[in-house]
Amino acid sequence: PLVLGIETSCDETGVGIVRGHTLLADAVASSVDEHARFGGVVPEVASRAHLEAMVPTIERACETAGISLHDVDAIAVTNGPGLAGALLVGVASAKALALGLGKPLYGVNHLASHVAVDQLEHGPLPEPCLAMLVSGGHSSLLRVEDVTVGVDPMGETIDDAAGEAFDKVARLLGLPFPGGPHIDRMAREGDSVAIDFPRGLTARRDLERHRFDFSFSGLKTAVARWVEARERAGEPVPVADVAASFQEAVCDVLVRKALDAASSEGIDHLLIGGGVAANSRLRHLAEERAERLGIRVRVPRPGLCTDNGAMVAALGAEMVARGRTPSSLDLPADSSLPVSSVLAG
Ligand code: ATP
Ligand code: FE
Ligand code: MG
Repeated sequence: PLVLGIETSCDETGVGIVRGHTLLADAVASSVDEHARFGGVVPEVASRAHLEAMVPTIERACETAGISLHDVDAIAVTNGPGLAGALLVGVASAKALALGLGKPLYGVNHLASHVAVDQLEHGPLPEPCLAMLVSGGHSSLLRVEDVTVGVDPMGETIDDAAGEAFDKVARLLGLPFPGGPHIDRMAREGDSVAIDFPRGLTARRDLERHRFDFSFSGLKTAVARWVEARERAGEPVPVADVAASFQEAVCDVLVRKALDAASSEGIDHLLIGGGVAANSRLRHLAEERAERLGIRVRVPRPGLCTDNGAMVAALGAEMVARGRTPSSLDLPADSSLPVSSVLAG
């Protein structure tokens, strides 16, 4: 099926077009620069930016794919979780398209689409698989039996998300927002064992209750204390070493817990998605350790890891292919849509 997908859960206006597992277009307009001076996404600013970018982004996607809107078989849209006002713009646009074109509408869960996107790169999803979603808003371990039906949360962050930790530590080090890519780059020049930063929720007593959960706020605080102590002593802050050691602490815990979750379920495929999956150290470490356990790792290319419309189209196409019932035109935008319900409305 030819499916157009719309994503507006955060600060990216994404419009993707796929035919089955083939990506035809992935147009993304980001308002990230408008948020940079605030050090985080400002919801109101994001909503207005979506409204401005929506039509041009749809046009750009159709042009790239070489299709007319009338050719599409279905419209898919992220209807949660995410920023309420931002989601509303995408959902309203998708409804208008579905209604105007007389095509079915599929509301999809943002987290499940971060998983489904991998089929555009590596072919049919291995199911069951263990998915680790790491982004600015989420750090979750999910068991995926059928991505078009639901995903089972096994664990998640109890405080900051992994991407949030990258962004906050970057800010502390004077690097621009969003900080993940900058830390990734700086870390290559640094020593990852220079500073022994804490690995959250890995002590034996924590594992009893939080075996598959994450915590990054203690790590962030530890980095802040370390940097402050240096500054107080009038010594220069070795930014590359701090970046590398911090990144190692995050990636070590993420990979350890993801592989533990996969092993405990007897699952031999680990799929990593979300913006932080673009991290070069995370990819490397996951592959290295998974190989020893006989677990295959799949990570989409960086452009498909961050929020985009192609992932929504990918999940929509899968829903069409598997004969799922379309959403009604009453489809709500649900900012706190639970990850376990892929299909909403
Ligand atoms: P959501 O959580 O709802 O998916 P989001 O916009 O925060 O929304 P993404 O666009 O998937 O999610 O990811 C953005 C996050 O990914 C930011 O926190 C950014 O710093 C982080 N990120 C991007 N590239 C890298 C990288 N190479 N290394 C580490 N973090 C990265
Ligand atoms: Fe996302
Ligand atoms: Mg984003």
